[in-house]
Amino acid sequence: MGDQNCTERACPECGHLMVRDEVRPLTIRYKGLSATFPMPGFYCVNCGEGVHTGKDMEVSDRNLNLLKAQAENLLSPTEVRRIRKKLRLNQEAAGQVLGGGPNAFHKYEKGDVLPSQAISNLLRVLEVLPNGLEVLQGRQTSGSHQA
Ligand SMILES: [Zn+2]
Repeated sequence: MGDQNCTERACPECGHLMVRDEVRPLTIRYKGLSATFPMPGFYCVNCGEGVHTGKDMEVSDRNLNLLKAQAENLLSPTEVRRIRKKLRLNQEAAGQVLGGGPNAFHKYEKGDVLPSQAISNLLRVLEVLPNGLEVLQGRQTSGSHQA
């Protein structure tokens, strides 16, 4: 592995020392909404330039997804988890019964992938009418043995 856990590097802008031990607020905007959150990274002690690793970018990607969910009226990771638990499904079962596959809910709830408008709406309906789940589960089990 290249840059293991190094905590220092040289600034690409001015060549000064960049340190890892600082988390700076970053503001992102999406469709008129904005969010500010602590963004990890290497920051230059001289000019303030920031360099971000892939791991750091996960933090901004997830925050951007939260903002998109809000702007597009999709469920947030917390809402997806809350409704899934209310339906008494684990992540894998939720992906199989509701669609998306066994890893879908893991990704929605981590904020790595946004649920579609359709999944968001389906969950909203099931939150109010949890019995609707039986329709989907019934289809799934009887599907292979249709007379
Ligand atoms: Zn610098």
